Amino acid sequence: MFEIEIDRAACDGIFACLTRDERFVEDEMGLATIDADAAGVVEVARDDEKDRVVATVEGDIEDANLAARACPPGAITVREGET
Ligand code: SF4
Repeated sequence: MFEIEIDRAACDGIFACLTRDERFVEDEMGLATIDADAAGVVEVARDDEKDRVVATVEGDIEDANLAARACPPGAITVREGET
């Protein structure tokens, strides 16, 4: 189990993440979020006050790490072994 956190205040909507990890999707605000229905996604919590999305995910962490490394403003944090 691991967590993916997206800092939506930093997200620029260019979507380098979408091509690295299919769990990332564009939401109605034109920013990145995590698809709650994607395989392995246990929970997606969106906190609009803090401009954050935190997803709890089971399974392959490598694509999430690729997305985090590809994100130009560093808006993605992957935390292994959380929850
Ligand atoms: S790559 Fe980073 S900045 Fe670009 S859409 Fe994804 S999370 Fe946002």
